[in-house]
Amino acid sequence: MTTPLIAGNVKMNLSRREMEALFTRVVRELDADPAGADVVYCPPFPFLPDAARILSGTRVALGAQNMHWEESGAYTGEVSPRHLEEVGCRYVILGHSERRTLFGETDAGVRRKAAAALGLGLIPIVCVGETEEERTSGATEVVLARQVAGSLGGVDLPDPARLVVAYEPVWAIGTGKVATPGEAQASHGTLRGELRKIFGAEAAPHVRILYGGSVKPSNAADLLREPDIDGALVGGACLEAVSFLGIVRAVPRKGSCG
Ligand code: PEP
Repeated sequence: MTTPLIAGNVKMNLSRREMEALFTRVVRELDADPAGADVVYCPPFPFLPDAARILSGTRVALGAQNMHWEESGAYTGEVSPRHLEEVGCRYVILGHSERRTLFGETDAGVRRKAAAALGLGLIPIVCVGETEEERTSGATEVVLARQVAGSLGGVDLPDPARLVVAYEPVWAIGTGKVATPGEAQASHGTLRGELRKIFGAEAAPHVRILYGGSVKPSNAADLLREPDIDGALVGGACLEAVSFLGIVRAVPRKGSCG
C-alpha cells in the first residue's frame, strides 16, 4: 500500500515573500490536519534555504525542480544533487516537459539524473507524457513506454517507494484541459505495466505514479480515486493556498494500490 503524494511545482513563479506567505499558511493548516497524503513543495533554486526553514519539521517536504547528474565539477550554472541534499531537499522533479521541450532534455539525460538522485537518497519525480499530436495520432502508449524505458531502464532501485513517476500529458499542462479519470487511468496502467517490465512485478505497485495537468480541487478527487493514480503533480493550483489545500484534502483513502 502506498501513501499518496501531492507535489507542488512552483516553477519560475512567486517572489520570496509570496512563497514564504504561501508555505507558512499551507504548513499551518496541514499541521492541524496530520493524516493523509505526503506533500512536497518544489520552489525555485534561490529560495530553497528559505523554504527549508519554513518546511523543516512539518508535514510538507522540500523538493527541487531539476538538478545535474554529477555531484560536482565544471558545470557552470548547474546545481548538483549534493547541493540539494545539503539544503534539505528530499525530492527532485526530473524531465518535466518544459525541460524537455524548452531546454532539450532527453530520456538519456533524465536517466542519468534519476540514477544520481537515487544514489544520493533523493526521491526523483520522473515526468513523462505525450504531446497533443502524439495523442491524436494514437501514439500515447508507445511514447510513454519509450520515455519510461529511456528514463528509468537499468536504473538500480533497491526501494521502489523511493521512486515517483509523473504522468503529465503535455496538452494538459497549464491549459485547463484535463485528461478524464478514465483516460488518465489508462495511461497510468500503461506506465505501471512498463515499470513491471523494468523493475519486476513485486516492485512496480510500490512506485507512485502521479497525474499532472490542470489538477484543481474540483477535479482532484475523481482523478485520485483511480486505482493507478497515486497522487498529483500540481503547477498553477499550487501557487495559492486554498486551491493547493483543496487538492491535498481531496485525496481519498485507498485500501490498496496498484
Ligand atoms: C506542471 O507543470 O507540472 C503542471 C501540472 O502544471 P499545471 O497544474 O498548471 O497544469
